[in-house]
Amino acid sequence: MSGKFKKYFTMSFDDGITQDARIMDICRKYGMPCTFNINTSLFGVNWPWVGEMVGKPGLSHQRFTEEEIRAGVYNGFDVEVHTLNHPSLARNYGDDKAQIIHEVLDDFKNIEALTGIAPAGMAYPGGCEHDTSPFVIDTILENTPVRFARLAVPPKDPDAFALPERFMRWYPSSSFVFIDNCRTLATSFIEAVPEDRDLLLYLWGHGYDLDSENLWDAFEEIVAMLAKAPDVICVSNADLYRIFKDKIPS
Ligand SMILES: [Zn+2]
Repeated sequence: MSGKFKKYFTMSFDDGITQDARIMDICRKYGMPCTFNINTSLFGVNWPWVGEMVGKPGLSHQRFTEEEIRAGVYNGFDVEVHTLNHPSLARNYGDDKAQIIHEVLDDFKNIEALTGIAPAGMAYPGGCEHDTSPFVIDTILENTPVRFARLAVPPKDPDAFALPERFMRWYPSSSFVFIDNCRTLATSFIEAVPEDRDLLLYLWGHGYDLDSENLWDAFEEIVAMLAKAPDVICVSNADLYRIFKDKIPS
């Protein structure tokens, strides 16, 4: 039974780190699109403090080099903005319009130059409510082509599978850190019938999240079930934005 409304799935990974290669291998196996948010002033940078922060010393947070990006490591996938240097735009540059524009617009330009494809949006570094602001959003919209921005916190009701109310405050359904929650959401999403509106499931994470608790098999299982679900349309973040840009404001 095919009704008027549809179900969409999208996912993204942040920071442009080397675990993204394994994510892409899994995505290719199932024909699954994926979005990667990268920082173009941090190429090749190693952040051992991330492992310390999550209680896993030795956990790798090694970014791809500029040469690897230029050679096409992300070919076939959606590459979007994550700012040049990964600051909290609101906390580090709260009222500094020039710095906000520099971090977002120059990352946008670098990605376009390196991949040949202009990004459509971004993920906020940090991704909490306090990492963005009305000023940050207005500055981005007025001075850059970026038209969506993902937070790192879930919406009030992830089980509603709602589309974003505005693209510059796009709440993902769950982080892959909460892998059991992701599996539960994916299962109920596959069973859901979109009776009176389109539905969206959005899962996000970092490659190191999958390494940290060895969630790779569980991740692949979730990708496989969504890829094989006949009525789930799997799209990149940019695809989803383009499908709904005339219906949902930035
Ligand atoms: Zn990040």
